Amino acid sequence: MAETTAETAAETAADTAADRAKAAIRAVLDAEPDYVVDLCQRLVRIPSVNPKYPAGNDGWDIAGREAEVQDVIEGELAPYGLSFRRWDALPGRPNLVARTEAGDPAKSLILCGHIDVMPVGDPGEWSADPFGAVIRDGRMLGRGAVDMKAGVAACVAALRAVRKAGVTLDGQLALHAVVDEEAGGAGAKAAVAAGEVAAAAIIAEPSNGDIHVCQGALHWLRVTIRGRQGHSAHRFTGYWPQPEAKKTGAEPVSAADLATRFLVALRDYEAAVTRAVGHPLMAPGVNQFNVGTVHIGAGMGPDGLPQIMNNPGIVPDVAVIDIDMKTMPQESTEEVRAAFEAFVAGFCASDPWFKAHPIAVEWDLYGLYFPPMDTDPEHPLVRSITATRAAMGLGDTALVGSLGVTDGAHYAAGGVAALRYGPTGGGGHGADEWVDVESIRRTTRIFAEAVIDFCGVKDE
Ligand SMILES: [Zn+2]
Repeated sequence: MAETTAETAAETAADTAADRAKAAIRAVLDAEPDYVVDLCQRLVRIPSVNPKYPAGNDGWDIAGREAEVQDVIEGELAPYGLSFRRWDALPGRPNLVARTEAGDPAKSLILCGHIDVMPVGDPGEWSADPFGAVIRDGRMLGRGAVDMKAGVAACVAALRAVRKAGVTLDGQLALHAVVDEEAGGAGAKAAVAAGEVAAAAIIAEPSNGDIHVCQGALHWLRVTIRGRQGHSAHRFTGYWPQPEAKKTGAEPVSAADLATRFLVALRDYEAAVTRAVGHPLMAPGVNQFNVGTVHIGAGMGPDGLPQIMNNPGIVPDVAVIDIDMKTMPQESTEEVRAAFEAFVAGFCASDPWFKAHPIAVEWDLYGLYFPPMDTDPEHPLVRSITATRAAMGLGDTALVGSLGVTDGAHYAAGGVAALRYGPTGGGGHGADEWVDVESIRRTTRIFAEAVIDFCGVKDE
């Protein structure tokens, strides 16, 4: 009993320290309600379009602008005694990490946001300057407003508020401002590879009041099917059964016909997979195989694509099918890739042509792969965010799975318990992207209190 009493006393003291820390942080935030909004506007006004997407920017100079975003963030946090690490994740495209003093590794937390944005698209579709960050009716408009400079601003403001309030954390808090999420997440991957990991991470992508605790993996893959090129007039000889005596062994075999059979089989495979594998927080059927592009033509080129694409007088010998494949959060990459390859092998084994000319499968097409994320719905961060939201009168908080993928995938692969929570808004990747201004302030407070709950406070 004595031990229990001592523990209870220690807990009460700790709770008090945490409560005091939270009160001090709230005072900092309440004294400067517009700080995070102004910061978000400044970030939106820098057109840090992912340079892998040079088209659709209508004259805006996008070169090197990610570095400019990092300059602003670093400048904002410079006065607060943090240590900084800045390095190129890709040439000329720096990641920025800002962190507090080292502490208990089990209580280390990352607040993460990506600083690249999508291209504007057609500026005529916008009702405001896409990089003006105009506020209208409580909404800030701009490319990257909700995806995700508002989340980045909330992370920065939460870290700043913790420091300004003079709170010393038990665990370490790190801000990760990373590049390239919109084109595969090379920034987050580089951060994890550089050892910038923690016990947990909040990815501040928009979540409209929900907490996203899981997401399936996303694989891009290429399936290449080879036929035999020939004169279109002779296609039938490779298609209809021919008298044995007339066979030359050189009959054309259409890659279009082969691809058609494969695509039908793929639909059956997809249906079997989606019926067999589900997840309580994911909609049924999201583990799908989207055939995004099909290239069929003659002559394999050095780029892995058919070279002759303007002559239907040739029986094509090359079919290249690019697939965006999604899985359920609990499925391992090794399992789903082995299962798909077994399906392809079985399909080939059932056909004399494919037995002799097996279908090739290439994973990580264009380097794109987001690992699965499947964080425990009972994680302490979930409890913290839910409790803070309730205390703020925001009602119940739903736990959901993400349809899209985020950098949380790369942190999860690095052993970090990641979840997604962020501001409210809409229009991401489209015209008139917006973020609810009040939600940026709310998110800042929720993050700051999550820091106190998760990292703990040194009772001095
Ligand atoms: Zn995003």
